[in-house]
Amino acid sequence: MNTIDLDHRAFTSPGQGYWPEATPEQWNDWQWQMRNSVKTLGHLTGKLQLSQEEHAGVLLANTKLAMGITPYFFNLIDPFDADCAIRRQVIPRIEEMTYEPTDMADPCGEDHDMPVPGLVHRYPDRVLFLVTDRCASYCRYCTRSRVVSGVGEQELELDFDRAIDYLQKHTEVRDVLLSGGDALLLSDARLKSLLSRLRAIEHIEFLRIGSRVPIFLPQRITPELCAMLKEFHPLWMSVHVNHPKELTVEVREALGRLADAGIPLGNQSVLLKGVNDSPAVMKILVQKLLRCRVRPYYLYQCDLIQGSSHLRTPVSKGLEVIESLRGHTSGYAIPQYVIDGPGGGGKIPINPNYVVARTPDSLVLRNYKGDIYEYPELAAASDKPQEPTPVYRHLEFIDPIEEREEITSRSWRAGRRD
Ligand code: SF4
Repeated sequence: MNTIDLDHRAFTSPGQGYWPEATPEQWNDWQWQMRNSVKTLGHLTGKLQLSQEEHAGVLLANTKLAMGITPYFFNLIDPFDADCAIRRQVIPRIEEMTYEPTDMADPCGEDHDMPVPGLVHRYPDRVLFLVTDRCASYCRYCTRSRVVSGVGEQELELDFDRAIDYLQKHTEVRDVLLSGGDALLLSDARLKSLLSRLRAIEHIEFLRIGSRVPIFLPQRITPELCAMLKEFHPLWMSVHVNHPKELTVEVREALGRLADAGIPLGNQSVLLKGVNDSPAVMKILVQKLLRCRVRPYYLYQCDLIQGSSHLRTPVSKGLEVIESLRGHTSGYAIPQYVIDGPGGGGKIPINPNYVVARTPDSLVLRNYKGDIYEYPELAAASDKPQEPTPVYRHLEFIDPIEEREEITSRSWRAGRRD
């Protein structure tokens, strides 16, 4: 439910909840958290009253995308609300077995753009380097559910030597994004070795890590990890938070350690039905992210991954969310809404339309309140004087002026000034 819980503005700690017997040392040890993850129906017994849909989903999860939830993150689930926004993200449901005709196993078309195993080279100057198939917890809408968690039909092939060799030869690549799975699940030593090999390639200017570990497993963000990452600047990180409840005291501290290590932080959210498809929830989320020193970066329309239709929203909902933020809160808080072009089109920005009309010599704009403004367009030197041309029509805003008639720049101005 998108209940607007004002408590979500506050940073709270879920505490040890269902694991009171763990010592503080165990609880704060990320490897203990991973060893004690909630993975089976048995682990849920006595913790959650599952709905029928969840019960059936949990039984089938290990045939498609494993269930796995760290004890820390599990404690954020509301045990009494089957529609809890946290629960919807990590507890499997039977709807995952329903495939719509438009669903795809590889909605971003990554497999076609892999010159060597694990390396996606789609854009001219940057690559996505998949370095593991494991995550701290598994998101039920994961774009890469075909390869993450190790239970699906497809295995993620990894060959670091071939990937490094490819990168050494491809001098056009200046930006490498490590993802997976989650690169921060590699040990410090393994990650350091990989980052060192990448840094040794002269033309690679910029390293990024895409990770949900700071959110699922903030215990992993140790001072030692941060000190190691700091050696590889410029290194940026994109985290993944969907709901303000995920921003706890523990997460704020983990993000603070990363920010103190000089790592610029951005957030990528996925627009999810019943999780964050609400202007009010999203506003709290983006404002809270800024308080954690994280810049909201992308809001993704949920990909057409098989079995995710119960979590998808119409695109109009995403536009509504963005429009509710623009002008109503800090510009730094507003992510770019994008759709990953199905089948491999890459990220395509989607924006509410603020250009009401366009003529050769002016733009008619609306602001966040719907007020109309005209901005003069400079004629290019090669432009010849021309007859007014039909302008782009935005009926909602043109209606009061022109009553849906074909309009020209001249008639529009006349309409305005009369
Ligand atoms: S953390 Fe990322 S890669 Fe892992 S399951 Fe979630 S969305 Fe997929």
